[in-house]
Amino acid sequence: MAGEPQADCLFCKIVAGDVPATVVRETDTTVAFRDINPQAPSHVLIIPKVHYPDAASLAAAEPVIAADILREAGEVALEEKAESYRVVFNTGSGAGQTVFHAHAHVLGGRGLQWPPG
Ligand code: IMP
Repeated sequence: MAGEPQADCLFCKIVAGDVPATVVRETDTTVAFRDINPQAPSHVLIIPKVHYPDAASLAAAEPVIAADILREAGEVALEEKAESYRVVFNTGSGAGQTVFHAHAHVLGGRGLQWPPG
């Protein structure tokens, strides 16, 4: 069923506590944890507890939870003391998506170039 945990999904396993993660914030609907391969001094992933493969399918089915992720991005940046930060949703393998459970990258703590690569 849509939104249900998937047995082969790494981020569902983090939600369930079956794979360890350095969790920095948790709400009823989201978990925020440090990226295992950080691309900036502060690099936190925010995921919904429900399983959708990408941000657009999450937003279509659960718009309130999609908004929760954006609000959490601001809270993470505040806690990380990142005055400027970037929120990224890689969507599709051509854009670098490797984990097909919706997630936002929150990057901060250094100057960020534009356009991104
Ligand atoms: P994507 O490439 O946009 O799909 O982002 C997936 C992110 O998950 C990458 O930045 C990985 O470094 C990160 N990642 C993969 N496995 C783990 C883990 O076990 N803990 C924390 N981050 C992870």
